[in-house]
Amino acid sequence: MAECLFCKIASGVIPGDLVYQDDEIVAFRDINPQAPVHILIIPREHIPAVDCLEDRQAELIGRLFCKARDIARQEGIEAGGYRLVVNNGAGAGQTVLHVHVHLLGGRSFHWPPG
Ligand code: 5GP
Ligand code: ZN
Repeated sequence: MAECLFCKIASGVIPGDLVYQDDEIVAFRDINPQAPVHILIIPREHIPAVDCLEDRQAELIGRLFCKARDIARQEGIEAGGYRLVVNNGAGAGQTVLHVHVHLLGGRSFHWPPG
């Protein structure tokens, strides 16, 4: 998707602070971090939102979570706990229409979220 911000970061058209990439997944630090560690994990494939997921993409989405686990360990936040957030739709706070997992850690979190 030529006009998608996260597709541009994934392809290198727009610079990002990448912490991981392979042929399917890219992870980079959020430009407006909400915690000491705030990393976005995305598929290279342009999927606008969870609501657009196809069953064939289930394994890819599972890999995003496994990569979040790996990055949490790399960042040293696994023992203190971390939060994974996926916003779907504007009403839930989704602002970038390319599916992404927020990995947040390095501080305590409250429940329910705002
Ligand atoms: P959403 O609100 O869609 O769940 O999350 C979008 C996230 O993308 C936000 O946390 C926002 O700070 C982040 N973001 C927006 N623009 C950029 C950008 O240009 N670079 C990076 N690294 N993050 C961005
Ligand atoms: Zn995209």
